[in-house]
Amino acid sequence: MTDASYDLIVVGGGPAGLAAAAEAASTGLSVCLVDERPTFGGQIFKQPGPGFRVTEPAAVGREYVRGRALIAAAERAGARLLPRTSAVAIRGTTLVLVEDGEPARTVEAGRLLLASGAHDRPVVFPGWTLPGVLTAGGAQTLVKTQRVLPGKRIVFAGSGPLALAFPAQLRGYGANVELVLEAGPAPGPRDVLRLLAAARGNVPLLRDAVAYRTRLLRDRVPLRYRRIVVRAEGEGRVEEVVHASVDTAWRPLAGTEERVAADTLCVGYGFFPSVELLRLAGCDFVYDEDLGGPIVVRDEWLRTTTPDVSAAGDGTGVAGSYVAIDEGRLAALGAALDLGTLAPEAAAARAAPLRRRLARKEAFRRALRRMHAVGPGIYELATPATVVCRCEEVTAGALDAASEGTDDVNVVKSLTRAGMGLCQGRNCQRQIAATLALRHGGSIASLPVATARPPVRPVPIGAVADASLEDGGFFTVEG
Ligand SMILES: Cc1cc2nc3c(=O)[nH]c(=O)nc-3n(C[C@H](O)[C@H](O)[C@H](O)COP(=O)(O)OP(=O)(O)OC[C@H]3O[C@@H](n4cnc5c(N)ncnc54)[C@H](O)[C@@H]3O)c2cc1C
Repeated sequence: MTDASYDLIVVGGGPAGLAAAAEAASTGLSVCLVDERPTFGGQIFKQPGPGFRVTEPAAVGREYVRGRALIAAAERAGARLLPRTSAVAIRGTTLVLVEDGEPARTVEAGRLLLASGAHDRPVVFPGWTLPGVLTAGGAQTLVKTQRVLPGKRIVFAGSGPLALAFPAQLRGYGANVELVLEAGPAPGPRDVLRLLAAARGNVPLLRDAVAYRTRLLRDRVPLRYRRIVVRAEGEGRVEEVVHASVDTAWRPLAGTEERVAADTLCVGYGFFPSVELLRLAGCDFVYDEDLGGPIVVRDEWLRTTTPDVSAAGDGTGVAGSYVAIDEGRLAALGAALDLGTLAPEAAAARAAPLRRRLARKEAFRRALRRMHAVGPGIYELATPATVVCRCEEVTAGALDAASEGTDDVNVVKSLTRAGMGLCQGRNCQRQIAATLALRHGGSIASLPVATARPPVRPVPIGAVADASLEDGGFFTVEG
């Protein structure tokens, strides 16, 4: 039984989802947007948590202000925004929603737009489970929603634009950042020329990068290139970070290890798109490690290969907030076109500037790519004793033993329980695939991924298994 219906349901209240909701509602579609978090804004525009009252928006930061503007625009356009509401299963264009642990309900739509964003790329190394080691996203959440600094002596290890942005932002909040390690090379003259050639339409990004670099230089925070974290050590929590120089495949070079004292290690080697709902919906994927792995296939209006399901933003390949916003709008225009609230000419006219901007962003991303291409060495740091699946406490040694007779990630999951815990494999799945690839000589891209299982978000079992709820086939997955 369906509890409600809308023309368009958007999953994800980040830049992509919010921009989409505003654009779609402005064409006359009835729009509902859901986000599992208590506040909207997604990853970059995360708003302070409930209980905080902002009196000076500018003092909270530019990202807060941009987020507020997107939320206000969606509300003004008439979209219904539901916080604390997780989309946990999907069939056709019907979603199962769980609001704040209440019993699940179904919502039906003419079109679904999945803008689920991304999550940190977990990197497994000895000591990665020590208290004090956290992902860049985790640290950001602490700072942005709780106004709490993650520690007193912070080391940041990562790669990509975020490896520059995040430590600089932390400095802006008054944090003591001791050292920044970037796995990629220092930009050379050719890289600079390539970036300048792609600068059209990307000046704000270049300006941001210069501002972040200037901040680190001004605050004398050392930034060392071509180095990765290889171990975190300490009694009961991180006390020292061991790092080493790497080759172009991000494999540590012998004799280059150094140590630095720290109480916090932030790890930010990029992101993985959150594709669970897209996979449950049966969409087609390709694989691109630098975009985060499995990338959903879409057409020019960002429709997936599953009828009436579109996708936008980081959940379709991690490309940043500017791209997310324009993609959200483009997908919304596609929905309006298909559902008849925009004529083809009007949709094309509104889409044209978005397409132009997106093409320029893509050129910039390609120019950056050479510097931050993810090296396979990042998957080879665990020792047999390193815990890989932290929910079920399965070590790399146990995974390796289980993968002796199989290259099927689902079999390894069944044998070891790796990936069956609270995070449902979000933290360990890629490392398991890498273990299989290493043992059997294939590539991660060529391995089938673990079967997606609902509920895709951690919700109380009573919310989806209450005797009064009709299953309707939502929680039965073939294969
Ligand atoms: C950890 C992290 C840190 C980042 N830091 C920066 C930075 O410092 N500077 C910068 O320029 N860019 C940063 N980015 C990139 C930037 O945040 C993204 O490019 C941008 O936020 C993408 O917008 P989006 O709408 O696609 O996804 P997001 O902003 O990630 O929003 C997705 C939303 O979907 C919700 N959601 C997902 N699944 C479900 C579900 N099943 N049910 C209900 N809700 C769901 C999530 O709660 C989230 O709010 C960061 C990204 C990540 C992941």
